[in-house]
Amino acid sequence: MKNYLKPHEWQIIEEGFDPHYNKISESVFSIGNGRMGQRANFEEDYSGETLRGSYVAGVYYPDKTRVGWWKNGYPEYFAKVLNAPNWIGIHVSVDNQRLDLAKCKAENFKRVLDMRTGLLSRTFAATFPDGKKVKIESKRFCSMAHGEIGAIRYSITPLNFSSKVTFSIYTDADVVNEDANFDEKFWEEVYKEASEGRAVVTAQTKKTLFHVTTGIHYVIETGGQRASFDRINVEKREKYAGNVVQMDLKEGKETVIYKYGAILSSENHPKEQLLADCHKVLDEALAKGFDKLLEEHARVWAHKWEECDITIEGDVAAQQGIRFNIFQLTQTYTGEDERLNIGPKGFTGEKYGGSTYWDTEAYCLPFYLGTAEQKVARNLLVYRYKHLQKAIENAQKLGFSNGAALYPMVTMNGEECHNEWEITFEEIHRNGAIAHAICDYIRYTGDEHYLVEYGLEVLIGISRFWAQRINWSSHKNKYVMLGVTGPNEYENNVNNNWYTNTIAIWTLKYTLEAVDYVRKDNAAHLEEIVKKTSFDEGKEISQWKDIIEKMYFPEDPKRGLFLQQDGFLDKELLNVTDLKSEDRPINQKWSWDRILRSCFIKQADVLQGLYFLEEQYTIEQIRENFDFYEPMTVHESSLSPCVHSILSAKLGYKQKAYDFYLRTARLDLDDYNNDTEDGCHITSMAGTWLSVTKGFGGMRVKDGKLYFNPFLPEQWKSYSFRLEFRERVIKVRVTKDGTETLLESGDPMDILLKDEIVHLENGKAVMANRT
Ligand code: BGC
Repeated sequence: MKNYLKPHEWQIIEEGFDPHYNKISESVFSIGNGRMGQRANFEEDYSGETLRGSYVAGVYYPDKTRVGWWKNGYPEYFAKVLNAPNWIGIHVSVDNQRLDLAKCKAENFKRVLDMRTGLLSRTFAATFPDGKKVKIESKRFCSMAHGEIGAIRYSITPLNFSSKVTFSIYTDADVVNEDANFDEKFWEEVYKEASEGRAVVTAQTKKTLFHVTTGIHYVIETGGQRASFDRINVEKREKYAGNVVQMDLKEGKETVIYKYGAILSSENHPKEQLLADCHKVLDEALAKGFDKLLEEHARVWAHKWEECDITIEGDVAAQQGIRFNIFQLTQTYTGEDERLNIGPKGFTGEKYGGSTYWDTEAYCLPFYLGTAEQKVARNLLVYRYKHLQKAIENAQKLGFSNGAALYPMVTMNGEECHNEWEITFEEIHRNGAIAHAICDYIRYTGDEHYLVEYGLEVLIGISRFWAQRINWSSHKNKYVMLGVTGPNEYENNVNNNWYTNTIAIWTLKYTLEAVDYVRKDNAAHLEEIVKKTSFDEGKEISQWKDIIEKMYFPEDPKRGLFLQQDGFLDKELLNVTDLKSEDRPINQKWSWDRILRSCFIKQADVLQGLYFLEEQYTIEQIRENFDFYEPMTVHESSLSPCVHSILSAKLGYKQKAYDFYLRTARLDLDDYNNDTEDGCHITSMAGTWLSVTKGFGGMRVKDGKLYFNPFLPEQWKSYSFRLEFRERVIKVRVTKDGTETLLESGDPMDILLKDEIVHLENGKAVMANRT
């Protein structure tokens, strides 16, 4: 665990430059706006350890896999989130020495991410090898108000000399992916141009043929006036265009480069229009100027914060943690473009490839349900509806038939593009999360009609898959599900993973309810679905009922345990506290077979089921299983601590709930899993939000009503959060004196606070002494 970032309620602050932390900071200080984003790389050169990364939403590359012929049914490619052209670069040279913090001495280095306004800034003084010293101040943002504009204010002041300085201000599409299977370059040049002050490069991805046009325009000022130059050279080379500017700098006088970037992709513009549109966007950026653009950007952030801020009084680390999570989620996915989804690393790194995992349904959906208009969560579900045909084809490749659907583990466009056999073929529980999300959405919004329009078709596809994936065991006289990987990826190819069996049976039951609902609501529409999907109602429904009745679940009734899989109790049952600290994280220290043989659990597995389907279990059952599995859990997936925090809160384990909260909220800030340098864990950040609302706030929806069962962690004076719920906005504030609820907008409503009904009317706060 690292501890080098300063606590602050609204900012992330790094003081002093330690190259060892640079890649971590590049991830943590990343900025984006839903359309594009980038790691917090320096504008000037840096020859030390760095991952230069800029990303454009929806632009990917189907990288060839390294898998052999013997893995029949394998996806042909692994989609890579593409490192996109770099628009931020400025080379700075003084007397033939490049400004490069790996070669110059840095003093008073400070990097700040202001989450309130979405502004990344950096200040430092650098001494060149010949003793010349400059002060640099840079500010940068990706505009939330104009999704295709980025802006930089880069200031340089010579501290002990006057001399000629050269700036090379450019856009560069000659970028490589750190994550590439064959070290290939994925971009080809289509077009470039450069004139004084402006340069544009259009590059195209191989195979997928996305075009990305990256234009830059700069203005240089000294003492607030346009600076005069000695020379400007236009620079063009393969995939690269810019200007080289030479000018005199005077000791103690500040020179400022304003650099505007326009980043456009063929996802949003016809290819033949890209160049003209890029010029338009640059003209607009220039006309507004840095300050106005920043003001507009900050205004959008202010509005976002009004909608989804969580305040925590009395605990700066916890406050900083939750804001950091909300900040990253908000700048990754705005919900405006239904083609997009939420990649596990967002715009902060390349690892994991693909944009859509079960993370979206299992973790992110409730965040958007609670913090955004209903259509945002609905779009996330419709995204999967649109991929149903691909999911059916995916299942066909694996030998399933009759419209059985297996959604991909990882995807960009509905096609499976993950390829580790134990995950691609076996981690099929993802299908269950997609079905469960439909129920979650309807429970929260009351939009049952979703089943008629889209939901039922998806449920039928998934249920058909489960019905074909199980088999009858004459030995057990039960249905079983063999050869799966549960959410705990530290077990592969196990039989009867309790969670997978449970979510499968739950899906079958829910699909039966959905069929009944659609029949009642709109019998004619059911007919259409039956026809479209060739649904043999009589036969398939009775088969599903038989499976529901006769499914096998591994259990130890004496101990009240649901067993993670067949044979789990044969393992040497140790606790995480038995592990030596040098063995952790085990995924970086142990061989794979050792991990597989051990009892150690990567992330909630049985507990994931108890979390999702809590209404099916008693509190004693949840407690027994939590007390058994949690001590064996190493939480080496970012998705793990939040579920444990919520369950701890439910069980009244207040300290544990708090500890897990800090771990999820500060996972990247403190680099708990030693992997933040690859990028931040964006999807689990939604789990952090859930730890506050569902965990400490005890928020649920019961019979169409919002329900709270709040408690205040001892370390806090108060906390508050806001929820969008059925066209209303409700604010909940929990203090030592009780819980205050306020209906900020929308029609009067009743909520449940513990077991009491509280009536809310617009603008009137209601206090109940119930913490
Ligand atoms: C987790 C998966 C998750 C993936 C992407 C893995 O480490 O085990 O559950 O879907 O990361 O976040």
